[in-house]
Amino acid sequence: MTKRIFRSIFTVAMLVLISSLVIIFGILYGYYSDLQKTQLKSQTELAAKGVEAAGEKYFDALDAESFRITWIKDDGTVLFDSEGTPSEMENHLERAEIKQALATGYGESSRYSTTQMERVLYSAKRLSDGTVIRLSVTQLTVLNLIMSILQPILIIVFVAVVLSISLASGVSKKIVEPLNRLDLDAPAANKGYEEIMPLLRRLSNQQSQLTRQSAELRRKQDEFDTATKCMNEGLVLINETGEIVSVNRAALRCFGTDTELVGKNISALPPEAGLDKLLEKVKQDGNAEGKAEIHNLVYELSLSPVRSGDVDAGYALLIHDITEKDKAEQMRREFTANVSHELKTPLHSISGCAELIAGGMVKPEDIKDFASQIYSEAGRMIRLVDDIIKLSRLDEGVNTMQKTDVDLYALASDVVESLKNEAKAVNVKLSLTGESSVISGIPQLLSGIIFNLCDNAIKYNRKNGSVSINVKDSGNETVLTVSDTGIGIPAEHQERVFERFYRIDKSHSKEVGGTGLGLSIVKHSAKFHNARIELHSAVNIGTTIKVHFPKAADQDKT
Ligand code: ADP
Repeated sequence: MTKRIFRSIFTVAMLVLISSLVIIFGILYGYYSDLQKTQLKSQTELAAKGVEAAGEKYFDALDAESFRITWIKDDGTVLFDSEGTPSEMENHLERAEIKQALATGYGESSRYSTTQMERVLYSAKRLSDGTVIRLSVTQLTVLNLIMSILQPILIIVFVAVVLSISLASGVSKKIVEPLNRLDLDAPAANKGYEEIMPLLRRLSNQQSQLTRQSAELRRKQDEFDTATKCMNEGLVLINETGEIVSVNRAALRCFGTDTELVGKNISALPPEAGLDKLLEKVKQDGNAEGKAEIHNLVYELSLSPVRSGDVDAGYALLIHDITEKDKAEQMRREFTANVSHELKTPLHSISGCAELIAGGMVKPEDIKDFASQIYSEAGRMIRLVDDIIKLSRLDEGVNTMQKTDVDLYALASDVVESLKNEAKAVNVKLSLTGESSVISGIPQLLSGIIFNLCDNAIKYNRKNGSVSINVKDSGNETVLTVSDTGIGIPAEHQERVFERFYRIDKSHSKEVGGTGLGLSIVKHSAKFHNARIELHSAVNIGTTIKVHFPKAADQDKT
């Protein structure tokens, strides 16, 4: 801008200089011409008087250096000429100044020389004898005039150019300087700039409009961020070129990264997500869904287009963690298969026995054995169905069951009482020690925990073995300990014995009337009471299972 202003001022200054010079030269030239003419006229008058008085002799003493003098007869013949030979000169009668002088007594004219470089002024006066005396002087042309004063002109032009440059540069800086000082953050607050006030006001209006719009945008962005932050589902917005525009926290969690993904291509996301294929599909079908396992978690991915008018402006990827659901579904499938399998065996056995009896193929003395087998298989089925019902109740949620204050020691005492005969039958000694400790819980579930642990401790014990049950109140938790001197659980199975239908030795379990569901019921019931299970076992030495029931407030959470 400074340069443009400088150029403009400099150009104007130069134009003013040139036009001033032209005008000055015009005036000078006119003045100079008039002066020459007047001088020539008075000299002609003098010369005429001289010739009138002295006749031809006047020319002898004449020193005509600054002008040319010619004496002409009334017929145009040249009688004398200060620069030429009269006999060689042509007749002057037709010359304008001569004609005029002969007619009026005085005449003047001007003519350009043959080279056009100079103009000659003529002044003629008629004498009393009818002859004409003519004086001529060479007048300088404008070019000659300029050439004659070229040096001072050049000095003037040089000074003017230097002055113009410094003036233009100073003025342009002075014009721009206040503009640079303008406070553009608050345009309307700038005072003393009347000329640009409308512009500043407009700027100020636009600025406040922009501020409002950006505040509105920020508010919307904040709303969007808050909403997406709170979402459990991952949300990724992708533009039409496959560049990530927005990622929420849940999505970052699912991709197992905390690096900034915005601005990156979807290829930066874990390949297990299979987004390339989903993107292809969504472009073809309008939406795409898929399932992916990322970092051992299972996700359901749903990609749908974000439309702006008639075109796809981008895509929204919704990621839903279905690991639990997936696991639950798989467990349900396995459970159904296991249940069918577990029920099939006793049913086949019952059906086989009954078929033999009905076909009269069993001797009367054997009927008793067959009947007791049917009874035992039916008992197994009943136990199995009972356990399945208990588990499915736990699966459905036990919100309907009310928690009450339960004395764990009293409950354990009842369980020990109910298992007394069973223990006696296999020569296992049952003993309960500890103290009364009240926790908040569901009596049926707590009783189930103690029963299953003690039942296993008896079932998987050795002859003349023992089972010790202890209830201990340590202030912030109540610990139930069931220890036995039985066969023990090998280390590699310790993690899995709590799974449904998991048995270390299936035939042994069946033999002792196990269903494979006891410890899963214990695990579920303990979880419901926020209790922690601890298992210590050594093969052929025994097993100790501890259940830690917290007494803290969160224990009441259902
Ligand atoms: P089950 O009905 O077969 O006893 P559980 O779920 O109660 O089913 O136990 C799972 C398996 O864990 C059992 O089959 C058994 O092999 C093992 N187990 C459980 N408790 C004990 C224990 N106290 N001592 C040794 N093994 C045990």
